[in-house]
Amino acid sequence: MKFQPNYAPGPTDVRENVRLTLAKKTSNPDFDKEFIHYYHEVSQKMGKVMGTTNDVLLLAGEGILGLEAACASLTEPGDRVLVLDNGIYGEGFKYFVEMYGGEPVVLSFDDRQGIPVEEVRNYLEKDHHFKYATLVHCDTPTSVLNDVSKLCPLLKEFGILTVVDSVAGMVGEPIDVDQNQIDICCGGTQKAISAPVGLAIVSISEHAKKAMATRQTPIASFYANLRIFEDYVEKQSLPYTMPADQIAALDVALDNILQEGLETVYERHAKIANAVRKAVEAYGLSLFLTSDASNTVTAVSIPAEIGALQLQEHIKEAYNLYIATSLAQYADVILRIGHMGENAFPEKVLAVLTMIDHGLCDLGFKGTGNLGQLFLDAYRMENEY
Ligand SMILES: *Cc1c(COP(=O)(O)O)cnc(C)c1O
Repeated sequence: MKFQPNYAPGPTDVRENVRLTLAKKTSNPDFDKEFIHYYHEVSQKMGKVMGTTNDVLLLAGEGILGLEAACASLTEPGDRVLVLDNGIYGEGFKYFVEMYGGEPVVLSFDDRQGIPVEEVRNYLEKDHHFKYATLVHCDTPTSVLNDVSKLCPLLKEFGILTVVDSVAGMVGEPIDVDQNQIDICCGGTQKAISAPVGLAIVSISEHAKKAMATRQTPIASFYANLRIFEDYVEKQSLPYTMPADQIAALDVALDNILQEGLETVYERHAKIANAVRKAVEAYGLSLFLTSDASNTVTAVSIPAEIGALQLQEHIKEAYNLYIATSLAQYADVILRIGHMGENAFPEKVLAVLTMIDHGLCDLGFKGTGNLGQLFLDAYRMENEY
């Protein structure tokens, strides 16, 4: 198999010390009681990075498992669930709610900006009979960032539990789970955390635990049932065999982040993202969003006469580089530059922007200057402040 360089908004590059950890021998995660303590330790380290003292679970599965598990564990037949939607993942929550018998009420907003907090407040003043609400921190296909620091406390004010998909946000953008009163916060290892694909991360508040414990009906799943982990430390038993190598790799990836310092990591993402956005605009392309872009990914509108899919295909064929377009209705409209975790370093972003510049030139687009150079100039400015 041929491996292509990867600059997509996830899975991201995995640092060598994390990759090598996967090769190390582990003890048997079912029989070795020390493993339970180790699992708990890594979960708490994850919680530290997420800003929470709530229980954190590391589920054996990709990020999507966390979203489904949150909905499976909270939803009872007939429950009304508020689905805040300004993007593809945002809207997507409705399918999980329906699958477990709930009644999703989808409140849709403009995809080109963050969810307007005051409009949500106005809506809630009229109707707030919801068991929980779902929202996405960074909706990756369009790169929009929602202000969880305002939206989640607002929902809680109305007695509504909050479920946040921060798979593509956490570590690149502050999530501060406790401060923002997030009841269930979902993450994945393969985005800004830059560990291998394979674990879903879920933090669960006391309020959410109580909602699960006081259900009238059983949870209609085993694998997506968050209660099967209850009291695993006291019971000295995890519900199924854990991928010990993945847990160890996540541990090292978290150490990398904590050693650099979370604030420094956020700053690194902000500088790169600002420079990318400035360069794209100076070059003569437009950003898909009108405001509220996440620092983990940039969505660039590609002129219709070229098309994002043609540009992607051309760059793959001509330069052996895989770049991401978007999904669904935006697949041919948006080109995405991923700059999260290990991919948020200037030399990597420079390489991908240079290739995009070549690709666009080949297809007849005349940009102003050189996209890579514009990025370097903007990045230098970022570092002077
Ligand atoms: C990547 C991502 C997930 C995980 O889903 P995959 O499509 O399987 O990678 C979930 N939510 C968001 C917002 C993501 O960006």
